[in-house]
Amino acid sequence: MYPQIITYLLTFIKFQEQIIRTLLTLLIGKSMFDKPKDQQPVNKPYRKLQVDDLPIIEIPEKLNYRNLLTEYQEKHGKSLKPVRRHKNAKVSVPKGMKCPKCGAPSDYLYANNGDKGQYQCKVCSCLFSDKNRFSKEAILKCPHCSKTLDKIKERKDFDVFKCKNDDCPYYQKKLNGMSSKEKKQFKKDPQSFKLRYIFRQFHIDFQPLSKNSPELPVVDLSRIYASPHTLGLILTYHVNYGLSARRTAALMQDVHGVAISHQTILNYENSVALLLKPYVDHYPYELSDQFCGDETYIRVNGKWHYLFFFFDAVKKIVLSYRVSPNRDTASAIQAINDVLLKMEEIPENLTFVVDGNQSIF
Ligand SMILES: [Zn+2]
Ligand SMILES: [Zn+2]
Repeated sequence: MYPQIITYLLTFIKFQEQIIRTLLTLLIGKSMFDKPKDQQPVNKPYRKLQVDDLPIIEIPEKLNYRNLLTEYQEKHGKSLKPVRRHKNAKVSVPKGMKCPKCGAPSDYLYANNGDKGQYQCKVCSCLFSDKNRFSKEAILKCPHCSKTLDKIKERKDFDVFKCKNDDCPYYQKKLNGMSSKEKKQFKKDPQSFKLRYIFRQFHIDFQPLSKNSPELPVVDLSRIYASPHTLGLILTYHVNYGLSARRTAALMQDVHGVAISHQTILNYENSVALLLKPYVDHYPYELSDQFCGDETYIRVNGKWHYLFFFFDAVKKIVLSYRVSPNRDTASAIQAINDVLLKMEEIPENLTFVVDGNQSIF
């Protein structure tokens, strides 16, 4: 009898111990029972940036909406009218949008299903959406094996296409080129290797990336009451010394006896900034071929914004400083474009150094 009870109690104690351990682990964390390991920083090298060949772009048979409209006229004896829209229709078709198949302008496009971004062309009946309108315009094929690429990811600004062909020479070459150590690593973490041909198709039209039209200042500086000297003083205090507009106004009054409102100071600042920007952008900098870039956050009017900046790593000159409310690819591309615009000729050994954040850079 006794040995049985003792065995039972021992088992029960073990069980209780297990519960206590579990509770403690939950309470304090795993480190309680683990032996402390050396906290060595992990050296995980970034995957090297590779520039791949462009895919083969095949343009499917294109129709011309003008021909289609004439055909319609001949067949029906009347012309095909543009889409009639309800006055208070919630969804509108963007003005510049065209049918990807026949090129019909937005007047002939239905906004098909509410705000989901689907459209239909009245002329050729082609269905398309915001997302696939570019792919309707072209079929993408792998430059190495000529097989059609598969779309594997859709991001906000771009789609990712991949060649999934196992016989693709690109894939075969990469696969056979791996050392046995790399093959082991590949089995554990396939994400860290790029073996297949990949292409990113951006939805961003390049147009907005070209030089933006000059915005005109609120205040015409040639007509202001302040003398150039006073304007210089105001800008020195406000910009160079970073005093707020209100403090600058107070300083102008107290020290120089000039009555000026803080709003006027802000207007001056805005006008000067707009006038100076082209000079800063197009100054004939002598640049090296080494550039660094990163992103950071700044507050604009109390809201966090993203600042994408690039600078010449050798000459220490800031070359782009794009600010965007979103952490988007377009701003990163614009930031790089700002740098490229500053070069008369793009150097052969051009080096851009950025961190490993692939979604952005
Ligand atoms: Zn069409
Ligand atoms: Zn391929």
